Amino acid sequence: DVRLRFAPSPTGYLHIGGLRTALYNFLYAKQNGGKFLLRIEDTDRTRYVEGAIENLLHELSWAGITVDEGVVLDEEGKPVSKGDCKPYIQSERVEKGIYNKYIDKLLEEDKAYYCFCTQERLDKLREQQKADGKVPRYDGLCRGISLEEAKKRVAAGESHVIRMKLPANKDITFHDAIKGNVTINTNDMDDQVLIKSDGFPTYHFAVVVDDHEMGITHVVRGDEWLPSTPKHVYLYEAFGWEAPEYVHLPTVLSKSGKKLSKRTGDVSVGDFREMGYLPEGLINYLALVGWSPETNEEILSLDELIKQFSFDRVSKSGGVFDKEKLDWVNGHYIRAMEIPELAEKVKPYLVKAGFISEDISKDKLELITLTFQESISKLSDIVEQSEFLFADKIEIVEEDAKEMASGEQVPALIEAFKNELEQVDEIDEEFAKTVMKRIQKATGVKGKNLFMPVRAILTGNVHGPELVHVIQILGKDGILKRLNDFQI
Ligand code: GLU
Repeated sequence: DVRLRFAPSPTGYLHIGGLRTALYNFLYAKQNGGKFLLRIEDTDRTRYVEGAIENLLHELSWAGITVDEGVVLDEEGKPVSKGDCKPYIQSERVEKGIYNKYIDKLLEEDKAYYCFCTQERLDKLREQQKADGKVPRYDGLCRGISLEEAKKRVAAGESHVIRMKLPANKDITFHDAIKGNVTINTNDMDDQVLIKSDGFPTYHFAVVVDDHEMGITHVVRGDEWLPSTPKHVYLYEAFGWEAPEYVHLPTVLSKSGKKLSKRTGDVSVGDFREMGYLPEGLINYLALVGWSPETNEEILSLDELIKQFSFDRVSKSGGVFDKEKLDWVNGHYIRAMEIPELAEKVKPYLVKAGFISEDISKDKLELITLTFQESISKLSDIVEQSEFLFADKIEIVEEDAKEMASGEQVPALIEAFKNELEQVDEIDEEFAKTVMKRIQKATGVKGKNLFMPVRAILTGNVHGPELVHVIQILGKDGILKRLNDFQI
């Protein structure tokens, strides 16, 4: 059975590109009846961010990506390991000494060596190589130190790292499902550090040991890792293990062809959640960033994605993240929702904007929701679009609306509307549906000359949502205030 993993480093927030990587791993695992694992790669202690693991797990579960094995949140919201290869957090694996036996094996077999070079020496070497127009690379000074002597120096407390001992002039070849065959000669590779001076394994060492111990069959990750893969493949060979299948995904780019950046506000999954994208919408859209189904359908549920996903159809060029397209896909899910459910989702946005109170009646909230269901692309859009309903004063700025509200029939319309309002204590659906007809009768004004000015006075605009809804939501007091305040 296939086993795939998402292995983020807890260095910040879950990135849109990271979510897509997790999604592709998840889809392939589910399609093949396999397992989706989550491992935390936190061996770089300098980049660790407090709370990042919890955040990652929250965002994944919000997105509907469920973890079969690995790090999950317990009832108290704390990350814990679940599964046979426990623990799944690398720093905990370090504590358990999991990497020691593997590094010892490489040292014994002369496939790795202790290196005692100081940072100062390495910096100098680097400078010199750069000045000579060479690619900076470790020169192998410590390769010749015997294991026996090295161990003595280590025991004496000398600072050291452990490096892989690459054989000279050997081709390392692997196949990538998207990039094809990749070959690189060891003469063009560096004796990569496997164990750092703080005793922690590097990413390169830990990723290979863990993917092997956890039985990972397919490594699906961003193509920024492609240059690292030969090192990993060398390690698999050194251990005599079978390497997994590799799938390196092209980077997610912005519409202008650049990498997504924090600055343009289009990277963090949490930001998209807060803007009110639905998990179904974001997931559906993200699946299409760099992949398309054979049928070219664009609206696909998670189940449908699981059925149709394939690495063959992942594009070789970078996927483009297009917010307009995302809005379109998300809008589809908003329109497909039942009103009571959508109402609960838009409520916090309206409360936060100060438009409604927490204890608003269900009927009124649902009416507001229904009024904007067709026009919003994401939940937060409702704030901007419904603002006019809750504003104290309506200002008519648009030229068309100004013109319509300046017609000579307007005073009569206002009078007739006030008359109608006097007849009732409160506006109900029946009143809202029939009042315009009665104003028409009373004034003899109809069509555009009737509807446009009324709309302009009530909403400040000549287009907008269903007038019957607007009248009901504004209610008697709201309408009266607008009619009384009206001036052009
Ligand atoms: N920890 C790496 C990252 O944060 C994972 C790379 C991999 O999947 O091997 O991207």
